[in-house]
Amino acid sequence: MFDSQLNPAQRIAALKSLASDEFDVLIIGGGVTGVGAALDAASRGLKVALVENQDIAAGTSSRSSKLIHGGLRYLEQYDFKLVREALHERELMVSSLAPHLVKPVGFLYPLHEKYRERTYVGAGLALYDVLRGFQRALPWHKHLSEKKIATIAPSLRGDLINGAIKYFDAQVDDARHTLAVARTAARHGAIIATRVQCEELVRDGKRVVGAKVRDLNSGKKITVSAKVTVMCAGVWSDELHEKFGIKPGYKVAMSKGAHIVLPKSAIKSEAGIILKTSVSVLFIIPWADKWIVGTTDTPYKADRTNPVATKEDVEYIIDQANRVLHPKIDAADILGVYAGLRPLVANAAGATTTKLSREHTVDRPVPVHHLSRYG
Ligand SMILES: Cc1cc2nc3c(=O)[nH]c(=O)nc-3n(C[C@H](O)[C@H](O)[C@H](O)COP(=O)(O)OP(=O)(O)OC[C@H]3O[C@@H](n4cnc5c(N)ncnc54)[C@H](O)[C@@H]3O)c2cc1C
Repeated sequence: MFDSQLNPAQRIAALKSLASDEFDVLIIGGGVTGVGAALDAASRGLKVALVENQDIAAGTSSRSSKLIHGGLRYLEQYDFKLVREALHERELMVSSLAPHLVKPVGFLYPLHEKYRERTYVGAGLALYDVLRGFQRALPWHKHLSEKKIATIAPSLRGDLINGAIKYFDAQVDDARHTLAVARTAARHGAIIATRVQCEELVRDGKRVVGAKVRDLNSGKKITVSAKVTVMCAGVWSDELHEKFGIKPGYKVAMSKGAHIVLPKSAIKSEAGIILKTSVSVLFIIPWADKWIVGTTDTPYKADRTNPVATKEDVEYIIDQANRVLHPKIDAADILGVYAGLRPLVANAAGATTTKLSREHTVDRPVPVHHLSRYG
């Protein structure tokens, strides 16, 4: 029976296995992409190793808006394929894959005008509901009157808001979800070691046949043999490509997103709120006895490991939220702030990060050994 504990004893065993076994797949990076790849490969019967140089979900995967959503704003960019795929996955997560972690969350889309905006937004939300197909894990959207809004969201400014449309998405503790996927991969036999950094690739001619990794606790170097090495290093990808002398087929643009955390008492509303901004959207998200409010979307070039929310980020979030809130929120209400870096595929020179694709990319910059389904 495989162990999914990921405890110190398991780490010692994992380090031994990294040094002595030959793997079908070695994955670099223990964010949600890496652990997802590990689970996918291990559950198909492949022998998998994953190394993460910090901790599981220590990078972007613990710093998101924590929403499992179809991406309502991508509908406005006519990206129906992306929205449909995301909605399908959302339904699966809420209904069968992780209903213990992924929970429905209602959002109010406040309306400033009685007819035209209601028709336009209502049509968009109807499309959003239709695109998920025939599964119905989450309720259908609902039109709410000005009177109803005054009772369920008294913090929304009555002088500006003429009603709202309530729709549903889902939310999850992103780090906990990533850890749950890592543990499930370990349960399927994946060898997972944190505080282990990939430093170099091992080559046989042109082919990559593994990597040299360092146990950051002991300083010991280990050579890992693998038929295929998959890099899931998020915003560290460009840095690693360069270090490993790989010419990738894409670049990663870093886009910083900040959030502020407020006490529940700061905003009186029974549901979350989504606001359109001039560049993107702002979410006011219920989070147990708190609110998470964000996010920003700005190009970033500094330290990847510890991105911080600046005064400007926080002011932007407060100003956007205060467009519709009464009483206004104040910097003194803030309990905490956090920032993360979106690893976006840089698909056009000079494109603003709000317009960059949220699609994933699979790149094969060096020849790989072909694996059959069972290795
Ligand atoms: C502000 C913000 C809000 C977001 N909101 C949402 C949302 O609501 N819903 C949603 O679905 N998505 C959201 N996202 C996107 C989502 O969070 C990311 O797409 C996802 O977390 C990226 O995961 P990843 O595994 O690719 O990267 P990461 O989580 O960054 O993982 C990469 C890992 O690689 C490791 N690594 C780097 N170099 C090495 C090395 N040499 N050796 C070993 N390991 C290494 C790093 O330590 C890191 O843990 C948001 C992102 C941001 C920034």
